[in-house]
Amino acid sequence: MALKADFSHFLNENGKVHSLTEQASMVFTFLKKIVSAVTFEIEQPIIEVDLQCSTRANDLTCTGSIDASCPDLTIIHWHCDSCEASGTITNWQGSMWDNTKPTIH
Ligand SMILES: [Zn+2]
Repeated sequence: MALKADFSHFLNENGKVHSLTEQASMVFTFLKKIVSAVTFEIEQPIIEVDLQCSTRANDLTCTGSIDASCPDLTIIHWHCDSCEASGTITNWQGSMWDNTKPTIH
């Protein structure tokens, strides 16, 4: 089952992370690594994210790694190279983890 994540749901209006449940926090840690890795190499067709599949849920033991792509610069697609796990991330643009443009503080 694909995990469809709206990145903005994890953030408040100031772009800071909401206080999250342990489960949500784990998922968010997973997602932000993907966003950060993908936006760092946005021109690449496939970005290998330095993440293990099991990072997104502690009851998983899959040791596959995560590949991601962002073909249209709006929606990030990711999938595990060993199992069926996959998902999308939207509304990551302009967040703290968006490396596509210089961050303005
Ligand atoms: Zn997997």
